[in-house]
Amino acid sequence: MDKKCICEETQRYFLGRAFDRLNLKEAQRTLLLSSFRETRVTVPVTLHHNGEDTLHTFQGYRVQHNHARGPFKGGLRFHPDVNMGEIRALAQLMTWKTALVDIPFGGAKGGVAVDPQQLNDTELEALSRRFCQKMAPIIGVHDDIPAPDIGTNPQVMAWMMDEYSKSHGYQTAIVTGKPMELGGSAGRLEATGHGVAHLAHKAAQGMALAPEQSRVVIQGFGNVGSHAAIALANKGYKVIALSDVNGGVVNEAGISIDHALAHITENGTLTGLPGTAPISNADLLELPCEILVPAALEATITCDNADAIQAKLIVEAANMPITHRADGQLVQRGVVIVPDLLANVGGVLASYYEWVQNLQQFPWDRETVLGRLESRLSRTYDAVAILANERKIDLRCAAYELAIRRVEQAVRLRGF
Ligand code: NAD
Repeated sequence: MDKKCICEETQRYFLGRAFDRLNLKEAQRTLLLSSFRETRVTVPVTLHHNGEDTLHTFQGYRVQHNHARGPFKGGLRFHPDVNMGEIRALAQLMTWKTALVDIPFGGAKGGVAVDPQQLNDTELEALSRRFCQKMAPIIGVHDDIPAPDIGTNPQVMAWMMDEYSKSHGYQTAIVTGKPMELGGSAGRLEATGHGVAHLAHKAAQGMALAPEQSRVVIQGFGNVGSHAAIALANKGYKVIALSDVNGGVVNEAGISIDHALAHITENGTLTGLPGTAPISNADLLELPCEILVPAALEATITCDNADAIQAKLIVEAANMPITHRADGQLVQRGVVIVPDLLANVGGVLASYYEWVQNLQQFPWDRETVLGRLESRLSRTYDAVAILANERKIDLRCAAYELAIRRVEQAVRLRGF
């Protein structure tokens, strides 16, 4: 089975289990699983190739899943594999994330099936602006607020904000993840990794794992993995292994994150980091350690390697890094898992803070943003942990239950 199918099966399993526990009727389940609106648009762009201008058409999507608790919110990805099925599943996940962290947003996702690496800046700008024009009737500062995702970045958000503002007045709050000069938020870049580290620390404290005695292994050293590594090292944890797409590096005595960052800046990879030994991405997951942070891809921990994982605590920085069958095996062995739904929610939380700052025209400093992020994440973690403890269920079950219950209540109260 390919990874996309495994992820869909995993998500279906976790949701079905929560629906059963909440005793939801068939009609309620159908409503909660259905998209509010699914939009597909054609995005024409003239591309300049081999000295010739040729018109190309790309397929664009925006799925607005549920807005019972607030405007739709979710990223836009530019990637060749983008399709309605994938965008639909990701839009749903956003609904549960925003509900779990209790911010007044619903869930959405969008994207264009395109390889942005094949476009020059002029073409990428034209694509971003044309896609924004096509989405303009369904997005809005209080309706649907896009953000960056795979293949998009603050510059793409700046073009979209400019395009939307041409016909709606100056509207910084129409997208989040903007450059700082255009209303982007301090702390947004590191928010997800910072949140991962904060929640790892909360969970470790609950398990009486002292930072200086806790070895940490992180797979993926991109935006999320690197900022999680920085924050965990600052809290006193010993990061013993790191990896990127080219492979991993390990040193039982601990790795200096500053040296790793400098090495990757200079060489574009962690490979060859002085003072470390090489290790494959697969072996890295099975290293003896207290805390494992998968921060790269989905479905990296499956039935095939779950029993070989030695970590006591796994913090899912990536979306769906553990399949549902592997999750069962790990939970049975007493491994504590902070689920993706909770672990990487710092990103959308910081997006919410950016939107609030834009609406108020009142920017906050980095300390305020990260301070509010930490206290909101702590409250969310505590609510999940209390429910898990009361019901004798794991953190993932509790997180899904809490999120679904909030959405279901809002749906019912509004009389949808
Ligand atoms: P990124 O592209 O910045 O970094 C990804 C890292 O994973 C890189 O170090 C890359 O080399 C590595 N990688 C890629 N393929 C790999 C492979 N086959 N094996 C091992 N490592 C591999 O991405 P990111 O923004 O850090 O996101 C990481 C994960 O976190 C993704 O699953 C993403 O969906 C999720 N996530 C990110 C955010 C965010 O705010 N960036 C928010 C929520 C969830």
